[in-house]
Amino acid sequence: MLRELAELTSDEAGAQRVAWTDVWQTARAFLREQLRELPVTIRTDTAGNQWARLPGGGGTVIIGSHLDSVPDGGWLDGAYGVMCAVEVLRALAARGPLPCTLALVEWADEEGARFGHSLFGSSAVAGTLGVADVRELADGSGLRLGDVVTEHGVRLDDLDEARQEIRGARAYLEAHIEQGPVLEREGLPIAAVSGTVGVERHRVTFRGQTAHSGSTPMDMRRDAFLAAAATALAVRESAVRHRGVGTVGAVRLRPGIVTAVAGETVILVDQRHPDGGALTAMLGEAQRASREAASAEGCTVSWEPVFRARPQPFADELVSVVREVCTEFTGQGRVLPSWALHDATQMAGVVPTAMLFTSSTRGISHAREENTPEEHLRLGVEAFYRTVSHVIARTAASAGPTI
Ligand SMILES: [Zn+2]
Repeated sequence: MLRELAELTSDEAGAQRVAWTDVWQTARAFLREQLRELPVTIRTDTAGNQWARLPGGGGTVIIGSHLDSVPDGGWLDGAYGVMCAVEVLRALAARGPLPCTLALVEWADEEGARFGHSLFGSSAVAGTLGVADVRELADGSGLRLGDVVTEHGVRLDDLDEARQEIRGARAYLEAHIEQGPVLEREGLPIAAVSGTVGVERHRVTFRGQTAHSGSTPMDMRRDAFLAAAATALAVRESAVRHRGVGTVGAVRLRPGIVTAVAGETVILVDQRHPDGGALTAMLGEAQRASREAASAEGCTVSWEPVFRARPQPFADELVSVVREVCTEFTGQGRVLPSWALHDATQMAGVVPTAMLFTSSTRGISHAREENTPEEHLRLGVEAFYRTVSHVIARTAASAGPTI
């Protein structure tokens, strides 16, 4: 299924399943095609998420991931988790009536590649999506999110209705490729995920004075770029010291020509850490470094948050189930944090949640080269099947309250 999907939705530059495009809809139709023979009811909620429910006894276990990709993306990011869920649904449907309902979800717009807002569908269902914050977001060609998603059947004014989809949910489980090098380095095919790390993402603007590159003496400059460059080095230094990660992934200079000292420089800073206290310290250190660098260059600096997420631990009892299953398959119950955000981050706020990772070759993702050894992909499906089976049995056995 994954190879067929890649064939249908990729070109020579990689996967092109960007949310709210025709190629993405082709991928979603492919999913419906895989589910056609199964005794499931398929519906799309007001946020554009596709659900396939296999009805059973009381309580619901939800499994899934996303089909959208970044432009020129990989064949496995998101798609692997969706196809794992299809495979598990197919196997369990063949086993006869289940003691609880099993729901497959394919989340809309996990990547935020077109409008810059990640986790669209899952945050709508979790009740954390601010409609006013996203309606006016524009894509590269100036089209508004509010208008584009309407063409894909989303009803922004009725977004709250999507929250009904998780009524009665007892667990959310997601399989995903690691998108990092840790499992490969440790020689492990699969592992349990403890949760997703916290994120601080800020737009930092330095202002100095635009001046002629030739006639302005070095000691009379107010070079906004040099202040930004010193800050970028401080972001790295702080991340290394706290064992987190810090990235300056974008920079814009004004006027941005070689014959002028930059009077204005804007950088985007992304910092991540599994521990909230360490993340706060990293942000504070970067801000202090930026003020010192600005003052040394005769510039001003201002910080503006773009996106923030608190560290989101997963449910201990479900992480244990995944870890035990991984131990059965590999002899090692490795648990690692996810440095990337996932739809599971949103779900973990409202439903007990856990994830299973498979290794990523050379740790590369969001790129055409993204890959995982086939035997690891197969092992991941089998481990996911066993995890879901355990969780269904536990759900059926427990008389715990539903949400
Ligand atoms: Zn993903």
